[in-house]
Amino acid sequence: MSSLLEVENLHVWFELEGERELHAVQGVSFTLEPGERLGLVGESGCGKTTSVLGVLGLLPPSASVAGRVLLNGEDILAGGEETIRPHRWVDLAIVFQGAMNALNPVKTVGSQIVEALELHGQASGRAARVRAGELLNSVGIPAERTDRFPHEFSGGMRQRAAIAMALACNPSVLVADEPTTALDVMVQAQILELLDSLCNDFGLALLLVTHDLPVVAELCDRAAVMYAGEIVEYGPVDALYHEPRHPYTRLLFAATPDLYGRGVPVSIPGAPPRLDLPLYGCPFHPRCDRAFTRCKDEHPALKELGGSRSAACHLNDVVAKTA
Ligand code: SF4
Repeated sequence: MSSLLEVENLHVWFELEGERELHAVQGVSFTLEPGERLGLVGESGCGKTTSVLGVLGLLPPSASVAGRVLLNGEDILAGGEETIRPHRWVDLAIVFQGAMNALNPVKTVGSQIVEALELHGQASGRAARVRAGELLNSVGIPAERTDRFPHEFSGGMRQRAAIAMALACNPSVLVADEPTTALDVMVQAQILELLDSLCNDFGLALLLVTHDLPVVAELCDRAAVMYAGEIVEYGPVDALYHEPRHPYTRLLFAATPDLYGRGVPVSIPGAPPRLDLPLYGCPFHPRCDRAFTRCKDEHPALKELGGSRSAACHLNDVVAKTA
């Protein structure tokens, strides 16, 4: 049986001057089942947002995309905009980083939700206005505030309104791209709680893009850790936390404020590599505290490790040989 969403070998690249190219996403694959929550996690510039924009067909024309995105078994990337448009917002909806990017500042919040409902044939006229009020209510905004402009809302309320808009067509997958960035800690916690209850109440599958591992640990069932445009570790969140099989995952957990009361955060030395330059060996080797000779020359493939886990690190071959 096919998964709700299956991303297969997704590549995204941009042609640059001088016949160079920037290969931002390099063979990313993952699945999402109904009601499941998957976190795409990693530092800035590792390809998380580009991957989900590729899945939704929202990349700029300068981007080239290859691979398959199967929604209930149908390849929605196969025919470009024509095959993806009927599913965008209807089956797959996105909440962008910073609600002001999603809301039009010169239209009332309610009228924007009404527009979304009418555009996708969900409701029209008075029924759409009533539905807009219900959607705002479902994210904790009183329906009487339907006729307010985005600037009359606080940051947290704007993000709630953006979530209400994303839910307008009852999607089965909600993509949330850094939904709590730029919000204060209290509001962040409220938005995460809201996402949690909406997923439970509406049976939504969640694809959460974040650099914040505690957020993934809080909300998600599984995580895909991305580095230099690739998934380097994939598996249940608990397993990744308790027994990471890639040094980058371990260092990412060690670098975030501790949710479980362990140790002091330790920063990861160096920075992710430039993706417009050739990479040799393991892309993480210049920063890896476990690197050995093979790492400089040989790119590690993402290998299954059992227990629904996989990782791209030569150390796992050493462990397998000595086991
Ligand atoms: Fe570190 Fe080598 Fe594993 Fe890369 S392959 S993460 S450099 S140990």
